[in-house]
Amino acid sequence: MSIYSIKMRASKGNKHVSGAERMVEQKDISKSIGALAERALHHGLGQADFINLKLEAVEPAELQHLEALPVSSEFADTIEESFAIMETKLKELGLESFTGLVELLRTVKPMRGAVLYDIATNTRIEPDQARGVRVTYMDAAESPEGNSSQATSNKNHFREALVLATKVVNCPGILAELCISDDPLYVTGYIASQKHGYVRLSPLKPVGDNHGGRIFICDTRLADKDTIINYLEKVKVLVHSVPTAPAIKESKPADPVAPYTATLEELKEKALYRTMKRMDSEQSRYVDYKGQQVLMMASNSYLDLAAHPKVKEAAAAAVLQWGAGSGGSRLTTGNTALHEELEQKLAQLKDKEAAVLFNTGYMANLGIISGLMDKDSIVFSDELNHASIIDGARLSKATIVVYKHNDMQDLEEKLKQYQGKKGLVVSDAVFSMDGDILNLPEFVALGKKYGVLTMIDEAHATGVVGKTGKGLVEHCQCEAPDIIMGTLSKSLGSEGGFACASQTLIDYLRNKARSFIFSTSQSPASLGAALAAIKVMEQEPDRVADLQKNVKFFCQRLKYYGVEAESPTAIIPVLVGEEEKALAIADYLLEHGVLVPAIRYPTVAKGTARLRVALMATHTEEELERTAKLIAEAFAENA
Ligand SMILES: *Cc1c(COP(=O)(O)O)cnc(C)c1O
Repeated sequence: MSIYSIKMRASKGNKHVSGAERMVEQKDISKSIGALAERALHHGLGQADFINLKLEAVEPAELQHLEALPVSSEFADTIEESFAIMETKLKELGLESFTGLVELLRTVKPMRGAVLYDIATNTRIEPDQARGVRVTYMDAAESPEGNSSQATSNKNHFREALVLATKVVNCPGILAELCISDDPLYVTGYIASQKHGYVRLSPLKPVGDNHGGRIFICDTRLADKDTIINYLEKVKVLVHSVPTAPAIKESKPADPVAPYTATLEELKEKALYRTMKRMDSEQSRYVDYKGQQVLMMASNSYLDLAAHPKVKEAAAAAVLQWGAGSGGSRLTTGNTALHEELEQKLAQLKDKEAAVLFNTGYMANLGIISGLMDKDSIVFSDELNHASIIDGARLSKATIVVYKHNDMQDLEEKLKQYQGKKGLVVSDAVFSMDGDILNLPEFVALGKKYGVLTMIDEAHATGVVGKTGKGLVEHCQCEAPDIIMGTLSKSLGSEGGFACASQTLIDYLRNKARSFIFSTSQSPASLGAALAAIKVMEQEPDRVADLQKNVKFFCQRLKYYGVEAESPTAIIPVLVGEEEKALAIADYLLEHGVLVPAIRYPTVAKGTARLRVALMATHTEEELERTAKLIAEAFAENA
């Protein structure tokens, strides 16, 4: 069997690009030359314009056969820890007085070859300190592909390094090799010795750092310098049993929680980290917070029904009659007369043929939109719609076409573009962060004109707008959209969501809305409470009227104190801008006994942080006056 040495050196201009060598059988010569040329032509440092290939026969008798060093890995958390491991290994080799070599490795000037360090004289003995000593005439006996040509243009750092280290460590007079790769993306280096084998160390540098270095530690009392250099440069070596890849993973297993910790740190830095305030009493006009009674100016319980005695009693009575939980989905065992009664009541409230309940408003939007729409449909969605609408649209896989906020002209242009497709136009009736109202008459007319379904989300409209609090249709005195979605959790002081629509659409949703089908139905307490809340709203019409009166009064008082604010609904946004400033103002208000939250990104756009004041029917004029004045003061304090 004749073996040939092939050496390739490639440059571009007069810059070195790539160098490699092989020791192959005669039959594999052309394959190897092809692979080496490819490598020179596709190198990360640039396409070579000069490739020098040298082919040389090797006498079989000259050839030394070595077994690859055993491989192990030591992966640390930090670069410093990796170098500490390297130093420990040096000590184990009796080189404790030469740990300064680690520093040399980290700082040595870049060169093609290696430092040859003699511990007998404590000096560098490589003849050319700019070039270093080179190691040549070596290869793995078996290529990873199972033939000796290694016909691949991909550089395999690990295999090449192991072959080199095996030759170096077998060189007379050499005790160990230290190496950091100069590849900026390869942070794994090694220490090799007869005692330890080939020990991979990582990380030895940060990703992106192109510093590299190699030190051969020798003892000229064991072999003289010429013998050492001759072996490294001239003796032909084939290394056997070189593994394709290290048996151990490329790096220490990542901490799977680390990315989340990092994100939380980042949120904290940007004043976007969220924490929860703990209320120590029921949700009403005043709540216990940190041992203090604070005025609640932030609740969605607009009619103050969550704390209404009749509502609470109805919840308790429902539990006593129907139990604590419902025990099943509506389609299995979890349907009761109470569910059906509430659905009838809701259909009546919204003047629709039928209604279907969901466990929350969020689940209602998810189920309705993803139930009605599919991947061939178009969902037209206001840019300020609630997250649950956005999520429902995403879940449906429909094409989502976002139109400008409450801009019916923009909506029409978009409807025109997609004419003839199955579609749904969906909008908040009252927008949850700005408190403004949808242009319902045009919205419904556009849906009719373009043959798509129309749907409104009345989470903040029920109990708030319309003379008797029925919602936006009552407020606008116009034709109703196809679907009216709402929640029981805001004005109605309970929990749950619903859709009101034609019998056909409701039957369809009962068959297709997955958040309806695959979740245990609402519990009796929330059903009883919601039913009672609707009745209270009807029996005490002053609640809705008081709420609407409070809105007018409060906006007027804010203006009196010089604070810009305007809203036709119970949500009154007071724009601040910067996230930190909004937080500071909210803190000031809380210190003075008034709870108003700062609303920030991602709930609203970055740089449009605001206070979101929410009024209740039961707030008194004195309380509203006090709050308006305090907000003006808070702005002045944090100007
Ligand atoms: C609160 C809200 C919902 C979600 O209702 P929940 O019953 O709280 O899940 C949906 N849409 C809008 C506009 C909301 O404000």
